[in-house]
Amino acid sequence: MIIGVTGGKGGTGKSTVATALAYQLSRKGKKVLLVDADVDCPNDALIMGIDNKLLYTVYQRIPEWDYDKCTKCGLCGQACKTNAIVSIAGKKPLFMQQQCNGCGGCKMVCPADAISWGRKDIGKVYFGSLGSLDLLTGELKVNEPVSEFVVGALKDTVEKKANEYEHIIIDTAAGTHCDVISALGMCEKAFAVTEPTPLGAHDLELILGLMKKLGVKYEIVLNRSDIGDRSLITRIAKKFQCKLAAEVPYDKNIIDAYSKGKPIENKEIQRLVEQII
Ligand code: SF4
Ligand code: SF4
Repeated sequence: MIIGVTGGKGGTGKSTVATALAYQLSRKGKKVLLVDADVDCPNDALIMGIDNKLLYTVYQRIPEWDYDKCTKCGLCGQACKTNAIVSIAGKKPLFMQQQCNGCGGCKMVCPADAISWGRKDIGKVYFGSLGSLDLLTGELKVNEPVSEFVVGALKDTVEKKANEYEHIIIDTAAGTHCDVISALGMCEKAFAVTEPTPLGAHDLELILGLMKKLGVKYEIVLNRSDIGDRSLITRIAKKFQCKLAAEVPYDKNIIDAYSKGKPIENKEIQRLVEQII
C-alpha cells in the first residue's frame, strides 16, 4: 500500500512523522521506499542523515525560435498567458524562460512554424539509502515556478519501482495546492499531521476535505498533542468521521534527533507501524 503523510500547513511535524514512520517500518525488516515529494523544500535526507546521490535531472520543455522563419507577427506573445514572451508586431519576440510553463500555446498559434521545442533543467531527483529504507527525493531548482514536473517525475519513478518495496511512504508538501493533490493521487491512504491549535484545526479541515474529494482514505496524527487544545482537533475528527491514529506528545528526544540529523524513533509512531504491517 502507498501511504501519504500530509498536512494542511508547514511546521506541524509532517516530515518528522513521515521519516519516523518509514524508518521504524524498515527497522521491522521491511523494504521501504520513502518519497520526499515536498519538492520546494525537501528535507527528509537531512532529517535522517542520508547521503543523497543524483538519480536524474528533470527537464521542462520550452519553445525555441527560428528567427529566419519568424514573420514578427506578434501572435505568440498574445497567446502566452504567463507573460513569458514580449512580442510587438514588427519586432522579434523576446523570451523570458523563467516564466514559461511549457503549455505550448505559442507554438500552436505560430503561422510560420517558427517555434520548436527545446528544454530547460528545472530540478533533480536524488536517491539514498539507510539499511532497508530507500529515499527518493525531488528537488525543484530555485526560481523555477513549475514544480508539477518534478512531482510528475517522482510519480513515474515510484510507478516503475513500486514492485521492489513492501511499503511506500509519500511525504507530500504542506497545503492543498497542485503538488499535494498530485502526490496524494499516488496514495491509497494518508495520515494528516496536525497540532492542537486553531490554525492546525483550520488547515486540517481543508486537507481532510481535499482527501475526501480525492477518495483517499485518511486518519489524523496529532503532533505536540499535549500542547494546546485537543478538542479543536477531536471536533474536526468527528465531523469527518476520522480516526486519531496517533497522538505524539512534545518529546525532547525528537528535537535532539532532528537537530543531529539522526532518524527519529517514537512509541506513538510505532503504533502506526503495527497498524500498517
Ligand atoms: S510554452 Fe506557453 S508559457 Fe511557454 S512561452 Fe509558450 S505560451 Fe508562454
Ligand atoms: S507567432 Fe511565429 S511568426 Fe509570429 S512572432 Fe511569434 S514566432 Fe514569429
